[in-house]
Amino acid sequence: MPPTIDADRLWSSLMELAAIGATTRGGVCRLAGSDEDRRGRDLFVTWCTGAGLEVRVDGMGNLFGRRAGTDRDRPPVMIGSHLDSQPTGGRFDGAYGVMAALEVVRALDDAGVTTVAPVEIVSWTNEEGARFPPAMVSSGVFAGAFTAEWARAQTDPDGVTLGDELDRIGYTGPAPVGRPVGAYVEAHIEQGPILEAEGTTIGVVTGVQGVRWYDVDVPGREGHAGSTPMDRRRDALVAAAGVIATLPELAAAHGPDARATVGVVTAHPASRNTIPGRVTFTADLRHPDTAVLEKMESALRERVAAVGGTVTDVWQSPPVDFDAGVVHAVRRSAAAAGLSHRDIVSGAGHDACYLATVCPTGMIFVPCRDGLSHNEAEFAESEWCAAGARVLLGVTLELAGEASAPEDVG
Ligand SMILES: [Zn+2]
Repeated sequence: MPPTIDADRLWSSLMELAAIGATTRGGVCRLAGSDEDRRGRDLFVTWCTGAGLEVRVDGMGNLFGRRAGTDRDRPPVMIGSHLDSQPTGGRFDGAYGVMAALEVVRALDDAGVTTVAPVEIVSWTNEEGARFPPAMVSSGVFAGAFTAEWARAQTDPDGVTLGDELDRIGYTGPAPVGRPVGAYVEAHIEQGPILEAEGTTIGVVTGVQGVRWYDVDVPGREGHAGSTPMDRRRDALVAAAGVIATLPELAAAHGPDARATVGVVTAHPASRNTIPGRVTFTADLRHPDTAVLEKMESALRERVAAVGGTVTDVWQSPPVDFDAGVVHAVRRSAAAAGLSHRDIVSGAGHDACYLATVCPTGMIFVPCRDGLSHNEAEFAESEWCAAGARVLLGVTLELAGEASAPEDVG
């Protein structure tokens, strides 16, 4: 018998984990470094130990469960995601990828399959960045983008550091952060509506779109709301609104993968009978292609300059192209499992973005209902979860290499 994903076992693990930090509205609150985070980790470690895995914790609290291969010199194939959540998060974001990886290992055990390269399940600390910004910080340290000292010094709104909380919950480990990895594959819910709307089960993730954040400042002149005639005003909010209203057209001009969002608008002095003398707003531009992002940024700058405003860079995350070999392996595995699939670009950031800088990396998406995520109502059907785990199993076997199948050993 080839290894087989047990859909019911995967579902019951997901639901048992979701009980830790469960919210009254059906979601999960398992913030990084919290007591709920510790309990989720403890349960995961129990499962890893039960599956005979060698558990290792590094200095960022990243958790690894290692299943030995026949070649001790080969770097591991890593599969996993994260166990922390948003404050009003769902049961599947992150947890699904870790539980799918656990199910892959259990399926290999059931079938008595040994791989050539070791297979490691990983749970990255503080992917969400909800309590301790920034997001994906511990995979970032693993990949060398930040130092562990800097990441552990990041504080929550109460001034508590991530490092102190990891110490407190007993998850600052002795292992150094970062080492060679053969390949990394992360299964995740799509967090968008495309797969479900199309009736497609598997998203073959080719990369992650680039993100650029800006602060925009539009000047005006304060004046009395009653005594200033309409043709004598410099209303900063009307000017800013004019720019904001053109952003859907700006995005549409750059194809279906372009996104432009204004999430925060602040008018000064924020008095109902004073003409706004200054408006600041945030802008978030996204596209999978850096050249297109440049054009979008230029268009934004032109439009803001036309109303006398300025644009300041705040942060950016460049687009990520996943490894062609891993992407092909995901596509092949989906086809071999007889699952409908399509290529897709991730709209959200993931730990896979940082891993992609140090090893061949890919991702597998499964649908989520109504595209909802970062929401307590987040939901993925058991059959979708199992389908993604089947694809992950196939990819893991291909990348790690099968040393012995039951047929071989009689
Ligand atoms: Zn996630």
